[in-house]
Amino acid sequence: MTERRKIVFGPGCVPGSRVTVLGAARSGLAAAELLKRHGASVFLSESAPAAERAEAVRRLSAASIPAEFNGHSDRAFDADWILVSPGIPPSAPAMRTAADRGIPVAGELEAASWYCRAPIVGITGSNGKSTVTALTGEILKAAGLPVVVAGNIGRAFSEDAEGVPPEGAAVIEVSSFQLETARAFRPRVAVFLNLTQDHINWHGSFEAYGRAKARIFENQTAEDTLVLWASDEHVPGLAAAAKSRIARFGAGPSGDPCGFVRDGVLTLSEAGNETALVPVREMGIAGEHNILNALASALACRALNVPPEPIRRTLRAFRGLPHRLEFVLERGGVSWINDSKGTNVDSVRYALGSVGRPVVLIAGGRDKDSDFTVLRDGLKAHARAVILIGEAAGKMEKAFAGVCPTARAGSLREAVARARSLARSGDAVLLSPACASFDMFRDFAHRGEASAAAVRGLPS
Ligand code: ADP
Repeated sequence: MTERRKIVFGPGCVPGSRVTVLGAARSGLAAAELLKRHGASVFLSESAPAAERAEAVRRLSAASIPAEFNGHSDRAFDADWILVSPGIPPSAPAMRTAADRGIPVAGELEAASWYCRAPIVGITGSNGKSTVTALTGEILKAAGLPVVVAGNIGRAFSEDAEGVPPEGAAVIEVSSFQLETARAFRPRVAVFLNLTQDHINWHGSFEAYGRAKARIFENQTAEDTLVLWASDEHVPGLAAAAKSRIARFGAGPSGDPCGFVRDGVLTLSEAGNETALVPVREMGIAGEHNILNALASALACRALNVPPEPIRRTLRAFRGLPHRLEFVLERGGVSWINDSKGTNVDSVRYALGSVGRPVVLIAGGRDKDSDFTVLRDGLKAHARAVILIGEAAGKMEKAFAGVCPTARAGSLREAVARARSLARSGDAVLLSPACASFDMFRDFAHRGEASAAAVRGLPS
């Protein structure tokens, strides 16, 4: 083994350093190429066989990056530092080996951020990240800024970081997985939407999950802004340690700057001045949670000096993302709604309260060690019945006992057929699973598409 060079994370550590990139999916590949372009000696190590990573093999060979597949050999740990892909948990054997050997580890988002000349808006939270990332990107575009939208939401930040001009902005959806391995990551604007149970199986505990999320503002100074939900149970407490300028959003005024609803109108208060944005009923996205999301985006954009007009225009025009409370069709007086991205209990709680009709809920899938009893009150208030699918069906059935009728279905198609027979005119059938999709589907989008296809295929 070659002696390890001391690493201080930042762009200065890259040239001439020996780095192993763990993981050859989209982010890992993009990071390997980025680091190689900046003079690192890169080695890539992937646990899957090469046959399953044909595109990676092609790209690595085109970039002359040596690589190994089918497991991590000693060669992978003969490095000055390791760059880890966001899908690899701290409990993975390779991460344990790195920790045991004292090899410094940084994440892909972190490394990409070193090469971004534009201000970064980093958005995290248990729910609403994609919505707020997309909405913020749209507002900035409406304001005429050159913008990239990346991170968890689609493209890897490493693919785009260098391309944004300094006068533009990079809007990045940041998962807790990526924050776990953030070191010097310092967004100009950090948005911390909320913190509720999710991914406990990944981080080990709720505390560890919260600590990872809090890294979004760890390196911020008084020149940077932290946008947060004033009424969240945990976020304001975590943010007490922040050095950032804080902008709060919530139901009522909560200091300065802040965003809130006054007489049904989204309103900002900054330096003692109030600015009315748009009436809630004119917003393109509905539901209590989307009012919060809109205020968060508005404050984030104001922190980059975007004037109110493009914010107003975009809040009216933005219709939300697919698979988030997405209207599918109405038939026989029953609305069908696809909320396949409702993959944790809190998002389902909001979904139940947002529909405004009695709900037949289709839920279930792969459990993330969630406490499903959190949904009992929402079900009591809004649900006519629940139809359960997937691995978590038994646990959910117990959690909902005595609250509303439950039934099990062997497939999503069967669940849709049962929901139709239970729903009455004036009801909504809501697919909002509170679980991951991987026991039955490729991902949440596959599940959402399958549900919409099953609904469209129902005999009229
Ligand atoms: P994320 O990227 O954090 O998963 P999304 O914007 O994709 O967030 O939304 C995921 C789910 O959470 C959807 O079901 C959506 O309706 C719901 N949701 C969106 N914003 C919020 C929020 N602020 N609080 C609670 N639930 C939300």
